[in-house]
Amino acid sequence: MQKIGSYDFSGKKALIRVDFNVPFNENMEITDDTRIRAALPTIKRVIEKGGSPIIMSHLGRPKNGPEDKFSMRHIVDHLAQLLGVTVKIAPDCIGEATKKMAQELKAGEVLVLENLRFHKEEEKGDEAFAEQLAANGDCWINDAFGTAHRAHASTAIIAKFFANDKMFGYLIDSELESLKKVLESPARPLTAIMGGAKVSSKITIIENMLDKVDNLIVGGGMAFTFLKARGGNIGNSLCEDDFIETAKTIEKKAKEKGVQLIMATDVLAADGFSNDANTQTVPSNNIPDGWQGLDAGPESIINMKKVIEESGTILWNGPVGVFEFENFAKGSLAIAEAIVAATKKGAFSLIGGGDSVACINKFGMADDVSYISTAGGALLEYLEGKELPGIAAVLK
Ligand code: AMP
Repeated sequence: MQKIGSYDFSGKKALIRVDFNVPFNENMEITDDTRIRAALPTIKRVIEKGGSPIIMSHLGRPKNGPEDKFSMRHIVDHLAQLLGVTVKIAPDCIGEATKKMAQELKAGEVLVLENLRFHKEEEKGDEAFAEQLAANGDCWINDAFGTAHRAHASTAIIAKFFANDKMFGYLIDSELESLKKVLESPARPLTAIMGGAKVSSKITIIENMLDKVDNLIVGGGMAFTFLKARGGNIGNSLCEDDFIETAKTIEKKAKEKGVQLIMATDVLAADGFSNDANTQTVPSNNIPDGWQGLDAGPESIINMKKVIEESGTILWNGPVGVFEFENFAKGSLAIAEAIVAATKKGAFSLIGGGDSVACINKFGMADDVSYISTAGGALLEYLEGKELPGIAAVLK
């Protein structure tokens, strides 16, 4: 394995796997280019060191071969603008014509390959397809953290054709560095805030976290399965009855491991799932029938804030209320504020996994935390303790 910071790109064609799976509006204009910007440092490094970046990515979910709306050509102009250099588009991601374009690239010129998923072999992790992709470059850089949990041809299988010339890009490097700060050498106390709708989707993460954290805040819809497991009356709140036993086991394990498990003691309950529903603050173990807990209550907010503000490391995954409704966003806002306050005092804070990122962006606090992960599923699998094929392929 090589390091991008010390690799000699001079005269080399560098195949870079990025995640340019960006959203478009109906006029095929990019509505959020965060993923493209995230890969710029890696692309620029190759150019600065005299190499030629060859960009490969998937875009959307094409079903049966090429489809214009999923063509990478819709990305080329924007990328050229961001980089300030000419960017060419290849007719395909494999084949002679593409290979020829790649070979003829001059130093500093950028080539974007056509959508990898126009070939079903990509997602199948087909080795012959990976070999054809590999034929376009002299080295392989994996900078697509968002797809690192997939053993696809371009994200993992391709590695075997670059035994001595494979490396992570800057984005994956910084994602891994941030995750290590949380999972391997955290400044104590380490607090994980797990929220969101369902226990079932986060259960493996919670179990894995119990071995690492000092404090575990369980909030949002998933807390009610735990509260019911304790014998509380949760009214019409979200609950996964199949996970009551799991919730009990987790409580037991947390006690055994000395992890402080923090849950709402009071909740803001609503008489319907709507921003305009009637509300009342009630004890979290005594929610009247017909009412559902949609946010943490004021007492809970104070308790959660205190734990977060005293933490040395914080991981936030999932809102503690229905933050999309303004009237039920107070809990999540308070969490975000506490994380920002702790970060100001020197704590390391990592926000990741979909909705908590949406939260922190909505509250305009993205610049006031230590790191925001770009990944969804890949981050969750990493937090579950799983080996990610796209990471393992580079390290091996
Ligand atoms: P997840 O994708 O599992 O992280 O869940 C995020 C979703 O959980 C968000 O859309 C929130 O609105 C929702 N959520 C958070 N708290 C609650 C709650 N108490 N009841 C219902 N949904 C909730």
